[in-house]
Amino acid sequence: MKPPPFDYQLADSVSQALDLYARSEGDALWLAGGHSIVPSLALRLQAPSLLIDISRLPELMGITLTEEGLRIGALATHAQILSDPLVRTHAPLLSEAAAHVAHPAIRNRATFGGNLVLADPASEFPAVVRCLDAVFDIVGPEGARQVGVEDFFLDLFTTALEPGEILRSVLIPPAPASLRCGFDELARRHGDFAMVGAAVWLVVAEGVTTEARICFHSVGPTPMRATLVEEALRGRPLAADEINAAQAVLGNDLDPADDVTLPGATRLHLARVLLGRILHRLAGQTAMETAA
Ligand SMILES: Cc1cc2nc3c(=O)[nH]c(=O)nc-3n(C[C@H](O)[C@H](O)[C@H](O)COP(=O)(O)OP(=O)(O)OC[C@H]3O[C@@H](n4cnc5c(N)ncnc54)[C@H](O)[C@@H]3O)c2cc1C
Repeated sequence: MKPPPFDYQLADSVSQALDLYARSEGDALWLAGGHSIVPSLALRLQAPSLLIDISRLPELMGITLTEEGLRIGALATHAQILSDPLVRTHAPLLSEAAAHVAHPAIRNRATFGGNLVLADPASEFPAVVRCLDAVFDIVGPEGARQVGVEDFFLDLFTTALEPGEILRSVLIPPAPASLRCGFDELARRHGDFAMVGAAVWLVVAEGVTTEARICFHSVGPTPMRATLVEEALRGRPLAADEINAAQAVLGNDLDPADDVTLPGATRLHLARVLLGRILHRLAGQTAMETAA
């Protein structure tokens, strides 16, 4: 199908982009990598009168290490997330997940910000940034604001972003000492959207898990934290019995719905398998080299 007619404007700065949006009276959408919005226009799921291209805005570019943590510009491509040395060192969970996102041709253009704003419940990055306790730097007609990840993903394809706001960057707080983390997913073919995926972030001191953040994707309307599993792991050795116990309580955290691709019970079973697989891997791992 062909998209309905629309105008196109390339913005040079955030202020120009916001000005163009204001003049459209709310009938415009931002265009970043275009890998989700262009198909959705072609399918006529959306019909804005104006597309404002934000893909060249310098304010949304760059990956930098600051005192507050790793700041990743919204325009960082999936390929940059996969290969950037700062991301690989300070947020390896993100680079590990990026290898599972789509295929190289898509990763070369699709942006980190576009992926997070889309908030597809099957996407890898939203689950990972929830594990990493990310902070979203947003700018809009009312100025700039910061939103913590726990308040960002609200529902299926819905975030805290108001119409006309732009995600500028995402801050990943510094990794604590003794951090162990891992990502994995189960997909029918590598690069397909996953049947289930999980990001696991643990602080393990002298063999005991002191902090745990575990987040799944493709099992609910948003990236889903498994807080009861986290609680089951906290204060205990990271060993086979505790991993079995954690797997056993996962059904109290997740309740995936049946859909045309999989029964919910199968998806929960796969989530449990994945959780055990990652935890056993982390039990045999040492802390991240970057953790001071
Ligand atoms: C064949 C294929 C396979 C894919 N496989 C996967 C996969 O396995 N896993 C996965 O997670 N994703 C997958 N994707 C989706 C891909 O990662 C998307 O491109 C990405 O999710 C959106 O990024 P984009 O830069 O292309 O955004 P766009 O398509 O340009 O925009 C997406 C939405 O976000 C808004 N937006 C974009 N940037 C900003 C910003 N900075 N501030 C505010 N709003 C913004 C746009 O207005 C639009 O509503 C796949 C896509 C394709 C085409």
